[in-house]
Amino acid sequence: MSDECLFCKIISGEIKGTIVFRDEQTTAFRDINPAGPIHILVVPNRHIESVNALESEDEPLLGHLISVAGQLAKSEGIDQSGYRLIVNTGADGGQTVFHLHVHLIGGQQMKHPMG
Ligand code: AMP
Ligand code: ZN
Repeated sequence: MSDECLFCKIISGEIKGTIVFRDEQTTAFRDINPAGPIHILVVPNRHIESVNALESEDEPLLGHLISVAGQLAKSEGIDQSGYRLIVNTGADGGQTVFHLHVHLIGGQQMKHPMG
């Protein structure tokens, strides 16, 4: 846990989030400023700043994050219509919260081929 990290605070319950899934490794909650009808953030419970901070031993955790995102797409009813998974990294990537997260966005046709 990082003291100043917003997502660590949501994971610990210090700040309220609309949590939709939790297990030993991950927490998923609704984005406060949704980019589509469904917008969920899937995050590791352990503080990892970004893709840049990943170690090779984190590979199973990453697989799990994607798998959880896929399960949530199904439970939210958008697995057949389709959805987008996004991991923004660093300034040019548009990352604003430096705790690794996978955006699950769906429920409408994406307006841009890549964003
Ligand atoms: P990124 O820009 O990829 O770092 O994504 C950060 C996301 O966190 C944005 O989509 C924000 O809308 C979202 N966000 C910021 N604060 C909160 C919060 N308190 N609860 C839920 N989502 C948040
Ligand atoms: Zn954190």
